[in-house]
Amino acid sequence: MGVHSRLTGLRDLSPGERRALAAKSAGLDPGALDVLDPAAGLTLDQADHMIENVLGVLGVPVGVATNFRVNGSDVLVPMATEEPSVVAAASNAARIARIHGGFATTCSAPIMQAQVQVLGAADPHAARLRLLEARGELAELANAQDPRLVEFGGGVRDITVRLVPSGEDVYVVLHLVVDVRDAMGANAVNTMAEAVATRVGEIAGGRTLLRILTNKADLRLARARAVFDAEALGGSQVVRDIVHAAALAEADPYRAATHNKGIMNGVTAVVLATGNDTRAVEAGAHSHAVAPDGRYTSLSHFERDAEGNLSGSLELPMPVGLVGGATKVHPVARAAVRLLGVRTASELAGVVAAVGLAQNLAALRALATEGIQRGHMSLHARNVAVTAGASPEEIPTVVARMLAAKAVRADRAEQILAELRVGAGTAEGD
Ligand code: NAD
Repeated sequence: MGVHSRLTGLRDLSPGERRALAAKSAGLDPGALDVLDPAAGLTLDQADHMIENVLGVLGVPVGVATNFRVNGSDVLVPMATEEPSVVAAASNAARIARIHGGFATTCSAPIMQAQVQVLGAADPHAARLRLLEARGELAELANAQDPRLVEFGGGVRDITVRLVPSGEDVYVVLHLVVDVRDAMGANAVNTMAEAVATRVGEIAGGRTLLRILTNKADLRLARARAVFDAEALGGSQVVRDIVHAAALAEADPYRAATHNKGIMNGVTAVVLATGNDTRAVEAGAHSHAVAPDGRYTSLSHFERDAEGNLSGSLELPMPVGLVGGATKVHPVARAAVRLLGVRTASELAGVVAAVGLAQNLAALRALATEGIQRGHMSLHARNVAVTAGASPEEIPTVVARMLAAKAVRADRAEQILAELRVGAGTAEGD
């Protein structure tokens, strides 16, 4: 049975009903997502085995983004985020992208790199060539650390050596270029780097110091593109204004930081939901946003295509995996991966890039039209109402009154609540 991502009416369902519908629409058993109920998720015992000095677990809302179509197939996307409006915005952008076929994604091979730093080589240029001559020996030594990875078709693909000047010193830095298949790969390549370090120092004629992966995962790229229909976006002026908004991000680091944060709203939410390392993906993304001239710029591009529609594209490093880390241990992460239906780390990387592009478009469209606050505020108002102590029955009234008064603030919420309760008290007393 194919997956259907165009789910309507989710707003009117309870979380349990939504889980059942999402599972059914993804072709899973009705109870496949039940571990997302906080009562059934990560146990204290499981958490205690994941990190040190465990005190408890943190609940983060997990929503489902709808309408996504990626490489011709529908996909339901789990997103873990505390920020209101992210899931709705991604779903809305995906609905617009569907008109012209959804998202097309590609990925490079899952290549991660580890660095080995050598200090004090007398002849760094010659040391570099000696290390390159020893490529076969070093690759064999590294591969011997992870026969499973080699069995799965991964392992060392290349060895490169860079000379990095720093003050009086020139560091010889060897890179192990490793295909990590369906792993995120940090542990895999770190083990390899540590294993070759002594031999690298001997060959280079220096002392080895750091042996660790680089999070600048620029050989492991995910790319997504989509055409967003001009009419659905609000017309040709909106398309032109979005192109201008994106152009400012390309030219101005102050805008680029916020533009890229908008992309990461989507990216990090899927990365977190699937138990992957959000910091690794974020470090990779921001290091990739530095242009060759050293300027921090936007990760995405928006152009007006020949038909007048908006053509959006995004490319960023995507070190995510399906084995290792928390992905296999965390029950919610496992359910999230099942919902996505991805079979390889590269498939996951492509979906994450598509969500990043959708999130980016949604923010740009809001900014180029009504501004970001309108959508944000109605959702934010719910949080303000809850914080002020509104009961589930009182929330809609408090939200509506704050929005009508254009005053979404704690003091206003408290005032409205006091008025409501006086009114209710009087009514009861009558
Ligand atoms: P891992 O070591 O737990 O699992 C990877 C291993 O799984 C491989 O080495 C391989 O032996 C095996 N494997 C089985 N099936 C495989 C398949 N189909 N494809 C590939 N490998 C397969 O995990 P990892 O991915 O090497 O490391 C990820 C973890 O490392 C994350 O938790 C991350 O947070 C952490 N970490 C990150 C950094 C960093 O980003 N700077 C540094 C250290 C650790």
